[in-house]
Amino acid sequence: LRASTDDREVALGKDEKPIRGVSEVIIGVLGGGQLGRMLCQAASQMAIKVMVLDPLENCPASGIAYDHMVGSFDDSATVQEFAKRCGVLTIEIEHVDAATLEKLERQGVDCQPRASTIRIIQDKYLQKVHFSRHGVPLPEFMQIDDLEGTKRAGDLYGYPLMIKSKRLAYDGRGNAVARSPEDIPAAVDALGGYERGLYVEKWAPFVKELAVIVARERNNSVSCYPVVETIHKDNICHIVKAPAVVPWKIRKLATDVACKAISSLEGAGIFAVELFLTEDGQILLNEVAPRPHNSGHHTIESCFTSQFEQHLRAVLGLPLGDPSMRTPAAIMYNILGEDEGGPGFHLAHQLMGRALETPGASVHWYDKPEIRKQRKVGHITLVGSSMGILEARLKTMVDTEAVDGS
Ligand code: ATP
Ligand code: MG
Ligand code: MG
Repeated sequence: LRASTDDREVALGKDEKPIRGVSEVIIGVLGGGQLGRMLCQAASQMAIKVMVLDPLENCPASGIAYDHMVGSFDDSATVQEFAKRCGVLTIEIEHVDAATLEKLERQGVDCQPRASTIRIIQDKYLQKVHFSRHGVPLPEFMQIDDLEGTKRAGDLYGYPLMIKSKRLAYDGRGNAVARSPEDIPAAVDALGGYERGLYVEKWAPFVKELAVIVARERNNSVSCYPVVETIHKDNICHIVKAPAVVPWKIRKLATDVACKAISSLEGAGIFAVELFLTEDGQILLNEVAPRPHNSGHHTIESCFTSQFEQHLRAVLGLPLGDPSMRTPAAIMYNILGEDEGGPGFHLAHQLMGRALETPGASVHWYDKPEIRKQRKVGHITLVGSSMGILEARLKTMVDTEAVDGS
């Protein structure tokens, strides 16, 4: 028997409303970039309403969000106005106005993760102070205010010396390396000078970079995704391999460090923990993102519950899904932008064409309003029965791209 709409209405009774999704709560997301877009994609499956706040009228999330308020997620009055229309507030970018979120929380607005967490994480120096106080292993670090102080740090930590800006960092824009004391002034200038707020980190001689996506529930319990390896090129995430091909002991240690770090914060949602694996088997924390992250994009195709769905579940207080992998292996490859019409732009399209012909490959295009050089514009995820097979498929896909483009 097929139930017609009329039958269903009868079955529900006159006063009952049909179920519209798992939640009637509107989730407000500060930011409408590719992460916001993928949150909306996950939300649509369960008819969860996600509303985004982003200054760009045609931001990646705008076309598929339940609603899009055009405005700055960094402007206090705008964020307060936005919050009135949402049942719970979350972020897809940590560079938001933490003071406004704190004020909203005092007024009873539900922010997940908590404003205190965003305040700590958006300042990388404060973040390091916080995690070192909680016993999380990390490279040594020190605030710097002038040339003399930086040279003292260089004497202490040796060279190369990693100089970082405390705030507004992403894709390595905010990092500069001094290879000798003579390099310091140019590196500091490149970051905008000491007044920008800088600190130094001891160079981490890593053999691999790893990452762990951690979901935190409203009751503070945490659940970890499998450890992945991240490979960076020019400071930008290039390739992610899941699971990381490292000994079991290292995976356990990385997961323990990630859990410890995220347990020290407040609020629900997805967190990403970037880690260094050193030659002697130590795990050091690089940084944490209080939101879905590039190192978790593979979860859309490779895990039972993606990081995006998990984030929605966590902020709504729904039961968390299974973070384990449903495929033996996955590789994520980032597509970076080049000047529109230029050879790079052409290559990105050729690469996507190749991906469409590759078994087990999924193409994600973020539909960014403008394509800029070295900015993430899409990604490709390969899933399959072994890492070896996927590495070979990726090589064919990328090599062909280079050959076709020459
Ligand atoms: P993201 O896009 O991940 O937010 P970011 O701009 O915040 O990047 P970091 O994660 O601090 O930058 O650093 C970018 C990359 O630089 C790291 O992934 C790592 O490859 C390298 N790096 C960072 N800190 C150190 C260090 N102390 N020693 C050696 N390499 C480092
Ligand atoms: Mg960062
Ligand atoms: Mg980073």
